[in-house]
Amino acid sequence: MELLTSRQALQEWRRGVGEDLAFVPTMGALHAGHLSLVEAAQQLPGRTIASIFVNPTQFGPQEDFARYPRTLEQDRELLQDAGCDALFVPSVADIYAGSGQTRVQVEPLGSDLCGQFRPTHFQGVATVVTVLLNLVRPDRLYLGQKDYQQLVVLRRLVEDLALPVQVIGVPTVRESDGLALSSRNRYLSEAERLQACAVSQALLAAQQARRSGERQVAALQAVAHAVLQRYGVEKIDYIAVRDAETLLELPEGVVGAEDPVMLLAVRVGVTRLIDNLLLAL
Ligand code: AMP
Repeated sequence: MELLTSRQALQEWRRGVGEDLAFVPTMGALHAGHLSLVEAAQQLPGRTIASIFVNPTQFGPQEDFARYPRTLEQDRELLQDAGCDALFVPSVADIYAGSGQTRVQVEPLGSDLCGQFRPTHFQGVATVVTVLLNLVRPDRLYLGQKDYQQLVVLRRLVEDLALPVQVIGVPTVRESDGLALSSRNRYLSEAERLQACAVSQALLAAQQARRSGERQVAALQAVAHAVLQRYGVEKIDYIAVRDAETLLELPEGVVGAEDPVMLLAVRVGVTRLIDNLLLAL
């Protein structure tokens, strides 16, 4: 696997690679969820490049940028073993080499849901992904459904700006008890780790209620809320049921013909956890 640690090295490598390039952007501290994106990318012919960049502009001032886990050596081995062809690890200066005046916004979607609690987060994500796509010039972009709003924001970005890349969403990889894998799970203490199960349990309970015929958004939210409470999760940023494609609210608060998705964001201790589940029948 080629390790590319500068813009120049990437551009040189890119010149030798033809079409069918798949791209998996990450912030590192890799786990089986990230590796499932690499695996999905390898299902089609061509090469796969991953990137590791802890993007400062997507963290708020009170957030965990400084203590975000950085495990480059281990990440590199995992990607090498997974058969990834190249790893791009740019510096901040490689990514933000311009004047810094340009920002990419996907609005109002980027201010909804997580955007209400992390006001500049999706602007940071959309901006860094635009820069990465322009540098890497992949044919396919692999993103996890774990970060569902991010996936929808980036699909919009690609469509709205006619970026020449296909976006592929990959299903969430979970622990055996349902907790979605996340680099931030390592912040959890043992007791918090047990509480964290509440998130996937709440989603499953809502899915069950939907399958039993519940169509009222408020009732589905109440089912999820009750599970979170049972586990003692009190800091709930939101429990939402939205149209799975647009993330718009459902008309009249009732599930109609559209596929709904439930999205949750909670805090367990100081750790913010997000998860989601399609509530399709
Ligand atoms: P991150 O390193 O957190 O920025 O994530 C990089 C990519 O991996 C994003 O597209 C995430 O949605 C995806 N990802 C993170 N966790 C998981 C998971 N548990 N299952 C599948 N994809 C994931």
